[in-house]
Amino acid sequence: MSNTDFVLAIEDLTVSFDGFKAIDALTLYVDRGELRVIIGPNGAGKTTLLDLICGKTKASAGSIKFKNQEMTRLAEHKIVRAGVGRKFQTPSIYENLSVFKNLEVSFPRGRSVLGALGFRCTDEVKERVQSVATEIGLADALDTEAGLLSHGQKQWLEIGMLLMQEPELLMLDEPIAGMSVRERELTADLLQRICKGRSVIVIEHDMDFVKRIAHKVTVMHQGKILAEGSMEKVQADPKVIDVYLGH
Ligand code: ADP
Repeated sequence: MSNTDFVLAIEDLTVSFDGFKAIDALTLYVDRGELRVIIGPNGAGKTTLLDLICGKTKASAGSIKFKNQEMTRLAEHKIVRAGVGRKFQTPSIYENLSVFKNLEVSFPRGRSVLGALGFRCTDEVKERVQSVATEIGLADALDTEAGLLSHGQKQWLEIGMLLMQEPELLMLDEPIAGMSVRERELTADLLQRICKGRSVIVIEHDMDFVKRIAHKVTVMHQGKILAEGSMEKVQADPKVIDVYLGH
């Protein structure tokens, strides 16, 4: 397989903080339409890896290519514009605006709230809001004030706000943290829906959830990849068992 087949190609990526290698010569490829889950003990470098991909942290060495374009040193906003979306654990939604408005202001033409509120909502924007609201399961809640949504719905809304920008790679950090059992199930369905036509990278600790959603699992440890493959394969890997059981 040539590099052009991957949406994301990371090669020999390294980042050091005061001489400590948080990411150490890491190589990782993500396919189009793939849902990849990254697991690993605390301090393994999972968050730092996502920070590097979205441009929040800059690499000391190595390269990150998105759709075969070099973006290792690109500014964060340019990486977003290129089609990379990142959701953090705490939702950053506008609590006093409706679900519709939250999605509308996330349409790329109106990134600033004031600009978007003054902006006439075109049919194109409305259609996009409708289709994203359906995708995130909030089509019946478009008029609801975002602050009144459940914890899970707020997380889905934020995913929807990212989808408004039509990312081709979406990265989510522990998307089910704090969710009820039912919300977790709905989030699994939601992730299956959104990875059709897009690639998704998820950091997750809940192994039942990982089993349910992952196309492929990457296990990180000490800034490197310890194992990669199906959940069954990595779970049976003695190196992984060793790290998790601390032998
Ligand atoms: P994980 O998300 O897997 O728990 P992190 O990526 O948060 O791991 O951290 C990996 C290692 O890098 C940790 O030892 C952490 O303390 C260190 N680290 C992360 N960011 C910084 C930073 N900005 N400065 C110094 N050390 C950092």
